[in-house]
Amino acid sequence: MGFELRKKNGVKFLIIPSFEATGLVRHAFSTRNGGCSVGYLESLNLGFNKGDEEETVLKNYQIFCDAIGINMENLVASNQVHENEIYVATKKDRGKGILKKSDIKGKDALITKEKNVALVTYYADCVPLFFLDPVTPAVGLAHAGWRGTVKKIGLRTVEKMKEEFGTPVERLICGIGPCIAGSCYEVDEPVVEKFKETFEYWESLFEYKGNGRWLLDLVEANRMQLMDAGVRPENITTSGLCTHCRPDLFYSYRRDKGKTGSLVAVIELT
Ligand SMILES: [Zn+2]
Repeated sequence: MGFELRKKNGVKFLIIPSFEATGLVRHAFSTRNGGCSVGYLESLNLGFNKGDEEETVLKNYQIFCDAIGINMENLVASNQVHENEIYVATKKDRGKGILKKSDIKGKDALITKEKNVALVTYYADCVPLFFLDPVTPAVGLAHAGWRGTVKKIGLRTVEKMKEEFGTPVERLICGIGPCIAGSCYEVDEPVVEKFKETFEYWESLFEYKGNGRWLLDLVEANRMQLMDAGVRPENITTSGLCTHCRPDLFYSYRRDKGKTGSLVAVIELT
């Protein structure tokens, strides 16, 4: 199991086999390969606020969308703030945040049950969460850094899908995409305290390194949280890939000390 690396027209991207098997969605997690950005943004930067020309980023979106078979006009992007608010997207939102100005503010998760509305969320170490309810059908994406994880963005997205669409959680399938792995993610005491206040099982997520530094496993934290929300463990796919360890494939905020590009998760119902 795990995510699967694909290559089309020189563009590398990852897909989740269990999502593809439903035949209900087009989806991908991007890599940095195959675009036209140069320097530290080489080469498929999909973030508009990373120091790239807007024109270059749009060109990268066109290249990426062509490779994964999504119409660029369908894209709807989030505006992430490390909180836990969720936006229900519809056809009228298409283009927002990519091809036109967006009025979607402060949303770290997007969900929809409408076809051809391609949700987009941004990453460079934070945890990408993919959701597919094959029954309704409906889809979702959530951006979970350590703050979003503490604020239970994953659990809240599941609850919101239940509330808005009647999603049967026992049938929900989820993907946890490439992010900074536990072995690379050092945090200090205040972060540990937040987890201690929020999760009974906090100890299983940390490993003490000495000198007030801890390693935090955000993948496991989100896997546990999805199970808390009622998702079956066999319905959760993890990527096994660390953004920090793979400069050949991914941007990493921590590794590149903030001077880096953006990766995206994208999903739409067909
Ligand atoms: Zn790593």
